[in-house]
Parts: sequence; C-alpha cells; structure tokens
Amino acid sequence: MVDLILSNAHVVDPHNKTNGLFDLSVTKGKIDSVKQHSDSSKGEVVIDLKGNLAIPGHIDTHAHLSSVGGDTWDSDRSYGHKMIAESGTTTVLDLAGNPSIMSEGMKRRGAGLNVACITGLQPGETIPSENPTMDVIRDVVNREKKNGAIGLKILGGYHPLSPEITSDIIFQANNQQAWIALHVGTKDAGSNILGLREVPEITDKGRLHVAHINSYARGLINNVEEESSEALDLIIKMRSQWVTEAYLASINGTNGLCDEDGNVVFDVARNCLTIRGYEPNEKGIRKALSEGYGAALVLKDERMGLITGEDAINIWESNLTNQAFCFPVNSPVSAFKLTTAKYSDEEFIVDAISTDGGALPRNVAIEKTMSLVKFGALSLNEAVVKLSYNPSKMLGLLNRGHFSEGAEADITVIDQSLGKAVMSFVNGKMIMKDGKSVADGGNWLILSEGKETAENSGLPYEIIDLSKSKLYL
Ligand SMILES: [Zn+2]
Repeated sequence: MVDLILSNAHVVDPHNKTNGLFDLSVTKGKIDSVKQHSDSSKGEVVIDLKGNLAIPGHIDTHAHLSSVGGDTWDSDRSYGHKMIAESGTTTVLDLAGNPSIMSEGMKRRGAGLNVACITGLQPGETIPSENPTMDVIRDVVNREKKNGAIGLKILGGYHPLSPEITSDIIFQANNQQAWIALHVGTKDAGSNILGLREVPEITDKGRLHVAHINSYARGLINNVEEESSEALDLIIKMRSQWVTEAYLASINGTNGLCDEDGNVVFDVARNCLTIRGYEPNEKGIRKALSEGYGAALVLKDERMGLITGEDAINIWESNLTNQAFCFPVNSPVSAFKLTTAKYSDEEFIVDAISTDGGALPRNVAIEKTMSLVKFGALSLNEAVVKLSYNPSKMLGLLNRGHFSEGAEADITVIDQSLGKAVMSFVNGKMIMKDGKSVADGGNWLILSEGKETAENSGLPYEIIDLSKSKLYL
C-alpha cells in the first residue's frame, strides 16, 4: 500500500529526463515511483490530476517571511507563509529576516512550507555597528547559525556598509560556510548597475549569492537592455563564485520613510521616484501615489494587498511616512533577458526564478514562468530547471528538485490552461488546494549549529548541509 497516488499527471522532471503522462506515488513522505500505470487500489489516497502538470515543488531562493526586527517600518511578514503557499511554492529561503521572528511566525501563521532563514544585517540591531571588526563579524555569523539562520544578508539598498566591511562580511561567512547574500549597494555605490559593477572586487576570491539581479537593471544609469547585458556579463565573469536569481514581478517593495526635512530616506525608494520624474521627497511621494504610480502595502483578510491614491496617502501619513510601498519599476525586458539567457553549454546564466515575494503580493514566479512557456521562451523542462532543479542545487537540497525514488515528495501541480498552481504537497502532505492554503506550521531548515534552538522551538526541523550547495561547491 502506498500513501498517495497522483494519477494521470503530466510529470516534468528534467533530472530524471521524465516528461509525459505518469502516475506518481508517494510513501511516508517520499517519492515511491513514477510509472506509466499504478494500481489505484494500492493507494490510500488517489487523486486524478487529469493531465495537469506535476513538477518538483517550486523552491523560492528569495522571499520574505520575517523582518530583521527592532524597527517599525516592516509589517508582519508572517502573512507571507500562506500567500506564498497559495501560489504553489513549497520551499522558501527567507532572504533577510530574523530566525526567531520567522519561527514564531511559522507557529502562528505557517502554511506547511520548508523554510530556511538568513539574518539581515542592520547596524545597531543584528550587527553592533557599521564598522565591525573581523572578530565581531565572525561572532555574528556564529551567533546567527546558533539562532537557526543558515547565514546572513547584507542589505546594501537599505543599510549600506563600506565596500571593505561588505567584503569582510563575505569573507567571514565563507570561512564558516554560512549562506551569504548581498542586496547590492555600499556607501560608495547605489543599488543599481554601478553598485553591481563593484561586486566582483568586493567578492574577491569568495562565494556570494547576489540577490535579485533584475533590480539592478531598471534603466537608472543606461537603458534596461544595456544594463541587463552588463549584469549578465558580470555574472559570466563570476560564474564559479556567484549564485544568482531574478524575479518576474513588475512591482518592487520598498518604504516611503522621509526624514525631518521631508526627503525620502532609502536609496531604493528614491530611485523608484526619480526614474519616473518624481521628486525624492514627500511632495514626490504624494504625487506618485495620487497618480497611481506606486501603492501602499496593507493587510486585508489575513493577506497583504495593495492600495493606491488618497487611501494610500492617508495610511502613509498616519504611519508618519514609515510605510511599505510597491512601485512598478521592474522591466519585462530585463526579466525576459535575465531569465532566458544561457551559456554555450546550455546552463542558465541566472540560476533561478525567485519571487522576492512572501508577504509582498508578488508571488508570481510560477504563473509568470508558465507564461514564458506559453510564449515559447522556455520549454517545460527549462521552466522546471529554473523553478525547482537549479534552486535545489543552489541550496544543496539534493533530495528535492526532482522525483527520484526516495526524494522528498514536494510537488507543485499546475493547471496548464490556467497557467497557475492549483495544488501542492510538502513531504507528501497537501499544503495547498485550489489556490487556498490548507496546512499550518512548517518545516524549519537549519544548519547543525541551530539544532538546539530548533528543538526548543517545538517546530519540525531538518538540518541542511551547505557544503553540498552550489554556493560552496
Ligand atoms: Zn528581497
């Protein structure tokens, strides 16, 4: 007897060169077999997928399920668990939060996802100052692993550090084989293509996850086409040292905080305004919101949603300008180019398709990838490589991203005519059906150093090994 049979599934599993109609069976949370015909009387539960796609669950290497903490400008990102599960994702790297906030959020509002978390570096909060010594950085890496993070993120667009300190942090994280991600930007260069240009030197001989490549090709310095090409050239140059992802949503996520002179504080938000000719100050924000360029992020029915116009201005003012915003600044030209570009050996230049979503309502990786398939820009196999297989290798989750016998039964089911995920499973357990989250809690992915913290949390956990990740191979 097997626990679950997904019959008549169009299974796409590039790792095992499977692409066609099969029955997929699951036992004890693992893939049992993928074969042409299973005896359905042998299945505890049988679901006829009627030709819908069944792919290894989407692994999102850049989303947000917690905030760094210690300040007020972030809304509660734990709503993101249900939001991202409802889009069909099964595994998430919470890219810059705080492992205790993430795990608390998983308990309250979890959706059955596998989640790893990295700690965002905010001077005065998660790192003592902007100029930490090597010893201090080393202790921060060590502390965060023990807290249940798998590594750190440098928040160059929000809390930029000097290029030297940025480089020191990468070095120390590499030394302890912790995950290290960079949102490009330092005290010398912005969160744009100029900032990306200095990253090879900052990386030195190290390893680095360069986050959301598309966000440095928004046409701030040159045109989008040129910036996308330059970004690809930089990645090619750093092929053996960087892992990268790009997302496909048109909106970004930032914050409209203004200082006492009424000027916008954050580099990313200033860029969003100036790129469309708005002043980077309170007046510019008011104009942008009233003209429908930009929206405020608000909670509606336990999910984060967007509002524009007068309503958005009112909520921004009532929060004393400390309000999360989204602007439609990501070009489909860069998204297309960065997603589809390949090396001559057929490997993708940008490893994975991410969402940069979670609590931001832009969990569109699967549906936008399916539109690229419909358009003919990606084959189904290539779509699965970008959504599941490459990200599994990126993170060293070698028992995910494919349907080999004994692999974790993490499955995303996609209705091809809708172009959307309609069902998903984690470890053989259904977590989403018809676009609605049907599970709680989750599976916390940690490093061995975080074992005690994970045990004390009471959450199910799994120890992962970054020595097997593409970042450190
Ligand atoms: Zn992000």
